Amino acid sequence: MLADAAALGLALFVARVAQRPATPERSFGLLRLEILAALVNGALLIAIAVGIGIEAWHRLRSPSPVDGGLLLGVASVGLVANLVSLGILHRGHEHSLNQRGAYLHVLGDLLGSVGALVAGALVLATGWTLADPLISVLITLLVLGSAWRLIKESTDVLMESTPDHIALGDVHDRIASVPGVDSVHDLHVWTVTSGVVAMSGHLVVKNPTDNQPVLEAVQDQMRALGINHVTVQMERDQTCD
Ligand SMILES: [Zn+2]
Repeated sequence: MLADAAALGLALFVARVAQRPATPERSFGLLRLEILAALVNGALLIAIAVGIGIEAWHRLRSPSPVDGGLLLGVASVGLVANLVSLGILHRGHEHSLNQRGAYLHVLGDLLGSVGALVAGALVLATGWTLADPLISVLITLLVLGSAWRLIKESTDVLMESTPDHIALGDVHDRIASVPGVDSVHDLHVWTVTSGVVAMSGHLVVKNPTDNQPVLEAVQDQMRALGINHVTVQMERDQTCD
């Protein structure tokens, strides 16, 4: 619970700080901090999952008595708290990777509460104490799955990968088909932070009087793809390697 509170605190702090305006030293502001926070959150999720897994392993090897009543009581309170948090976080979890990290954290906790409820009920009803560690293993696997996705997505952003929902070939073809454009090279599409996609590219435009109409057509094409930060270099001949 302490690790969860720390992770949620981090997500909240970063969501606030990321709104700060850009400065000459940091021309993108602190937008990427959200991605870093999501990565840290993913790493914390893995640490928590491993911790639960190790604890479950010890208990599987030497089962210890489980107070089913206490387990049920604590799990019920936890379930209510996690349901409330999940309801609040659900609204934005598809837009921001940072918020999704927090959402997945609470979702993992919710599964933990449900697992603990089931384990408590089983122990009370049947006295089968192994239910506790076995359900813990199940929760560990679920948490590992979402942590892996979070780490993969935030790493993709940090590696400047082309966003999943955009095909670089499509971007290339759209630009190449603009009248006046001879060819396209050095093309990059990347995510600055969740929802902020940038593109840069070199365009060979033989006739300089085409530059302005080409630029406007490219901006329109990119806007249609959801790319809102466009930087284009016009060249008469391909002068760069
Ligand atoms: Zn070039």
